[in-house]
Amino acid sequence: MPFFRLHGTHVKHCKNTSSLKPMPLLLPKTIILPMNMHIGSLASPIVNVNDYVYVGQKVAEATGKISSPVYSSVSGKVKKIENILASNGSYVPAIFIESDGLQKIDPALVAPNIDSYESFVEALKKSGIVGLGGAGFPTYVKFDIDDLSKVEVILINAAECEPFITSDTRTMIDDIDDLESGLQILEKYFSSKKIVFGIENNKPEAIQKLKTLTKVGSNIEIKVLPSIYPQGGEKVLIYNTLKKVVPEGKLPLDVGVIIINVTTLANIAKYIKTGMPLIEKVVTVDGSAVKTPKNVIALVGTPIKELFAFCDGFKEKPFKVMYGGPMMGVNVPSLDVPVLKTTNAVLAFNEKDAKLPDESNCIRCGRCINHCPLRLDPPAFAKALEESNMVELEKLKVNLCMECGVCSYVCPAKRRLVQKNRLAKGELRKYLTEKAKQKEEAK
Ligand code: SF4
Ligand code: SF4
Repeated sequence: MPFFRLHGTHVKHCKNTSSLKPMPLLLPKTIILPMNMHIGSLASPIVNVNDYVYVGQKVAEATGKISSPVYSSVSGKVKKIENILASNGSYVPAIFIESDGLQKIDPALVAPNIDSYESFVEALKKSGIVGLGGAGFPTYVKFDIDDLSKVEVILINAAECEPFITSDTRTMIDDIDDLESGLQILEKYFSSKKIVFGIENNKPEAIQKLKTLTKVGSNIEIKVLPSIYPQGGEKVLIYNTLKKVVPEGKLPLDVGVIIINVTTLANIAKYIKTGMPLIEKVVTVDGSAVKTPKNVIALVGTPIKELFAFCDGFKEKPFKVMYGGPMMGVNVPSLDVPVLKTTNAVLAFNEKDAKLPDESNCIRCGRCINHCPLRLDPPAFAKALEESNMVELEKLKVNLCMECGVCSYVCPAKRRLVQKNRLAKGELRKYLTEKAKQKEEAK
């Protein structure tokens, strides 16, 4: 069983935009809706080229249990459906919709009729809402529980521990009424359970706002935690707020916890009130190459180049542009990629900040192990990977690595540890799949 430390590491917060109220972007000419904006099986387009679509109209259907529908964020014409290069290097189908500038709302759109827990879960399924902290796990799946007595706590992840990102912070400050409505909805079904917000102590204004929510129910608690990365990691937050350890291979529900992101909760309330599915996001635009960092309200599907243009463009050539924060974010292949359901930040860095420092030899200082929230051993992963020793990688539990980047961040030799961990996880996955296949064939 890995040992959970209270601390990961201190990182520079760089929350430059926390006091900036999000500003709406101009309407994009064309939106791009990829079919993989969630974890699970791809959504499947249900519109054809030249079809007219409304704002809030479903344009792609969920497929399978872990999947999510996609809705148009503009009114206009479907221009094309073709593959685009995603940030993970794969090609995924995407629907391109040309806006007519009128933002006509789907006449069939109505608020969901909720009169039971089952209809609440059904509404979440239709809403297109996925984990908005960046993970993208379809939210309805977390609530699709046969026996509600299994749930002891609903944990609201308000940590937002990644540097630069302040979109959740702004939700807590600007959308507190939605959070109150969200809690009232949860209270209907979970009034006998604890509802806990976990938030880092570097967000005083948001903490004050959250404290006003305790009036909704005596079971609501605001837990203020040290600002230590990765406080918002799911297993880390569960341990640091509730002192519960999610065992290997198990889910939070196995220890009685449903965990959702704070902006996800606000969006659940918005959907239930209006019936408007997830079509817009608050996105932090920041980084050393950005001229005027801002928080913006962007329609899902807006090309990210329009967000940077709204922030007065670049003051220096961007050498690295990414979705999400610098610790766990992913580089994007071009500025044409769109805002996804899960996009909470787009960052652009100049050459100085983007360039990785030269690696030197490991000096066996052990800092990477000591700071890892799960006490994993990245140098041992690297050695086993080099030797293609999959048995050792399995023994070392590389699969538990959450790719938080702490080991790389603290390493004095600047070893590319998280990149190696990622590779090692991939190799181990392939090995285990092959092993399972061979076992199956031998039966
Ligand atoms: S990236 Fe993995 S090994 Fe490194 S600190 Fe995070 S969990 Fe530990
Ligand atoms: S922190 Fe870097 S130098 Fe220290 S043991 Fe880990 S890999 Fe080696």
